[in-house]
Parts: sequence; C-alpha cells; structure tokens
Amino acid sequence: MDTISTDIRTVSTPCGEITYTFERKKVKNINLRVKHDGNVYVSAPKRVPAKTADEFVISRSSMIQQAVTSFAAMELMKERQKNLSDDKAVILGNEYSIRTMADRREYAEIFGGSVIIHMKNTADSQRRISIYTAWLKKYTEEVFLRIMHDVHEKFVPLGIAFPQLKIRSMTARWGSCHTYKKMIVLNRRMIEAPLNCISHVVTHEFCHFIHPDHSRQFYTLLDKMCPTWREDKKQLEKLVIL
Ligand SMILES: [Zn+2]
Repeated sequence: MDTISTDIRTVSTPCGEITYTFERKKVKNINLRVKHDGNVYVSAPKRVPAKTADEFVISRSSMIQQAVTSFAAMELMKERQKNLSDDKAVILGNEYSIRTMADRREYAEIFGGSVIIHMKNTADSQRRISIYTAWLKKYTEEVFLRIMHDVHEKFVPLGIAFPQLKIRSMTARWGSCHTYKKMIVLNRRMIEAPLNCISHVVTHEFCHFIHPDHSRQFYTLLDKMCPTWREDKKQLEKLVIL
C-alpha cells in the first residue's frame, strides 16, 4: 500500500497521552493497529484531517492501552523465559543451570547438572527467586555446618567446643572468629567455592580460638591443621570475587 504522507502525532486521551504514527494511504477507511513493540499506527484516506485521526485514537484509547499493556506483558514473559534458560548458579565450584518445573509442592533441589525449582506458577519470577534463595540459604547452612563438624574433630584434642555458626553477606572478608562469643561467622558467598576453599577458612577461624592474633604460632597451627591453606586461599580469591 502506497503511503502518501507520514506524521507522528501525540494526543491526550482518558488513558493518558498516546503517540501514534499517522499515515495517509490509498485506503477507504480509518484503520488502527497496535504493533507488538507497542507502537500505534493509524492509516487514513488522504481527505481525512489529522484532527479526525486524533479523535479516532481518543475514542479507542482504552483498547489501545489494553493492547499495549498485553504486548508489554508478552515481551516481559519472553524475556523471563529467556532468563530462565540462561540462569546459572555456581555452587561448590560446579556450574548449574537453574530450571523451573511446574509442581504442586514448591521446593528446589540439585538434580544432575541443574538446580530445579519446583513451583506452582512457573511464570511467577518473584516467587521463583524466593524459592531459590530460601533453598540456597538452607543448603549453604547444611554445607557450612558439615565442614565445621569435620574441622572441629581436629580441634577436639585441643579442648575446643563446637562453636555457633553465623552466616552473613560480607564484602571484605571470608570469615571471622568471635572467641568470647564462641562463634564463627562465615561469608555466604563461599558456597560458590569448592569444599577445600571453605574448609581452609573454617580451619583458619578455628585456629583463632587458640591464637586470636595472626602470630607465628597461629600460622604454625594453621599449617599443621590445614597444610594446603595457601593454595586453597589463592583458589578461593580467584574464584569468588567479593
Ligand atoms: Zn584470621
């Protein structure tokens, strides 16, 4: 269809301002189209004044609004679908893809090379994030506690009681030891690193129950308890950027 002239017009409507492309074509009637990108097109015969086209848009503003909104929702859905398949998580040094699966019970699990998020409404991206976050939090706690128990065994002969574990998001350190509170704080992000990396940090913090400082005696004990700590530390700092 030959376009005689094209004009971009904006009108105030009960649904807010609508900008549309006004095309004069060899057509018989006024036609209105909302494209998938949300752009509005009005085509009209040459004799139709621009004011009539404006009125036409105003009279159909609520329909235009609905179409724009549903196209935007569709675009968002497509974007989310793309993100679902692109989503990756690094856990204990392994890369997993995050997948969703429609299910009546909502939970997450590691299955093969994926973290599967079971959820009622797979289009609910907020819910998806909250299920994943809650699962990762619990999983991190289980893993850190298991490592704490393994490391603790080496410290039992030194008379060290099993400390309390706190997991926090920290930007400047991997862990800290609060000797007076009998508490070890570990950085949440360490769940991304392999077990040996986490283990060396836990061992380091346990050594502080004997030597609160970074004295020579501290490092002598750390060398004994975790001979690979230098390589573990390097690996951790390379893999997880705080
Ligand atoms: Zn230290």
